[in-house]
Amino acid sequence: MQKEIPYKIYLEESELPTHWHNLRAFMKNKPAPLLNSQTLKPMTKEELSEVFCEELVKQELDDTTPYIEIPQEIRDFYKMYRPAPLVRAYCLEKVLDTPAKIYYKFEGNNTSGSHKLNSAIAQAYYAKQQGLKGVTTETGAGQWGTALSMACSYFGLDCRVYMVKCSYEQKPFRREVMRTYGANVTPSPSTTTNVGRKILEEFPGTSGSLGCAISEAVEAATSMDGYRYVLGSVFNQVLLHQSVIGLETKTALDKYGVTPDIIIGCAGGGSNLGGLISPFMGEKLQGKANYRFIAVEPASCPTLTRGKYVYDYCDTGRVCPLSKMYTLGSGFIPSASHAGGLRYHGMTSTLSELYHQGLMEARSVEQTAVFEAAQYFARIEGILPAPESSHAIRVAIDEALKCKETGEEKTIVFGLTGTGYFDMMSYQKFNDGIMTDYIPTEDDLAKGFAGLPKINL
Ligand SMILES: *Cc1c(COP(=O)(O)O)cnc(C)c1O
Repeated sequence: MQKEIPYKIYLEESELPTHWHNLRAFMKNKPAPLLNSQTLKPMTKEELSEVFCEELVKQELDDTTPYIEIPQEIRDFYKMYRPAPLVRAYCLEKVLDTPAKIYYKFEGNNTSGSHKLNSAIAQAYYAKQQGLKGVTTETGAGQWGTALSMACSYFGLDCRVYMVKCSYEQKPFRREVMRTYGANVTPSPSTTTNVGRKILEEFPGTSGSLGCAISEAVEAATSMDGYRYVLGSVFNQVLLHQSVIGLETKTALDKYGVTPDIIIGCAGGGSNLGGLISPFMGEKLQGKANYRFIAVEPASCPTLTRGKYVYDYCDTGRVCPLSKMYTLGSGFIPSASHAGGLRYHGMTSTLSELYHQGLMEARSVEQTAVFEAAQYFARIEGILPAPESSHAIRVAIDEALKCKETGEEKTIVFGLTGTGYFDMMSYQKFNDGIMTDYIPTEDDLAKGFAGLPKINL
C-alpha cells in the first residue's frame, strides 16, 4: 500500500547525496569533445587549466566515472540550504481538476534565489583548494553572479563579476546583493580589459551582452596571477554539480514508491535540467526504467527546437573552446523584449547529444503564456517563480491538462529553479498588459547560422 504523500517531502541530512552523478558515464555515444578553436584538436587538460581550475578541468573531461565524491566541505555547505523540498502540488492539481499528480523540486530557498549556488560552491571550493586568490565570471540576469559571490565570501576568495551593462543599470538590487557579499562588480563592456575597450570603440554606447562579458571575464582571469575563470552553466562540470537536484528528487520519490512518468525543466544552458534528469536518464540509458523528459525553452531563443547540432563558439568574443551542441550561432541575439535568463544561444553538449539521440523531447513556449502560468502558479501555490522556472510550470500545466482530457493519472515532476523577486519589471509589463512575444523569423535565424565556424562544412 502506498504511504500518504505529504505536501513537502524532506530528506534527512543522512539521506543527502554523497556523490555527484556523472550522466556522461552512462552514455554509449558520448558528447563530442571541446575543441581548441585554433588547432581544432580536442582541448587538453593543460590548455583548459590555463583558464579553469585543475580539479574542475578533470571533471570536465571525465566521461567514464559514474559517481564522483562530493568533498565534505561542500556537503557541509549544502546542508545550510539543502535538501531542497520536493513539493506535491496538491493545490494546483485541485484547481486544474486533473487526475495527474504533480511534484516540483524547489531550488529557490537560498538567498541567491536559484539552483546556481549548487555549482558556485563547488567551483569556489576547488579554486580555494588550488590556492588561488580569486575567480572571475560574467553574469547576465544576475543569479549566477549572486550565487558565486556567496560562495566566494564563504571561502574568502576574491570574486570579480562582469555584469552585462543593461542588467547592471536595470537591476541595481542584484548588483548590491553581490557587493554585500564582497564581490567586485564591473559593468560590461568596460575599459578594464582589451576586449572591452575594443568593443566600446566599435560599438560606443552598447548595453553589452553575455558573450561580451564572458570574453572580458576570461581575459581578466588569464591576465591576473592567481585567478581562474568560472562559469554557471553549459559546461559538463556544472551539470555534474547540479545532479544533487535529481539525486535528492529520486531519493524523495523512492521513499514513497513514486515513479515519475514525465520530468520537465526549463533549459537555458541546460544545467538545472541536466542535473534534475541525471539519475533518471541514467536508468533510462541502462534500460532499467523509462521516463519522458521535456526541455522547455523560450520561443524567442529556440536552441533545441530550431537550432543546428554543430560545433560552435561558446561566447561572442570567441575566446572559449568550440563545443558541439544545438546552437543558434554565437552571434544570435534574442529579442530584447524577452524577460527570462534563458537567452543563451547554445545548449550543453550532454543534453544536445541526448536530444539528438531522441532520448529527450523539447518544446518552446511564448513568454506571455509563460507569465500567465507564473501568475496562476503564484496565486495557487504561493511561490513567486522566476521567469525562467515558469517555462517549466507552463508545460507542466499543459501536460496536466492533457491528463484531464484523457483521464490518465500521470505523475509529473518539474524543476522550479528559483524565485522572481528581481524580475518585477517583467511582471510589471505582464500586469500592465504590455508584454509582447517575438518569435524569430527564418531570416533572423539564418543570420545567426551564418556566423557558425566553417569547420562544420
Ligand atoms: C540561470 C537560471 C536558469 C537557466 O540556466 P540552466 O543552466 O539552463 O539551468 C533557470 N532558472 C533560473 C532561476 C536561473 O537562474
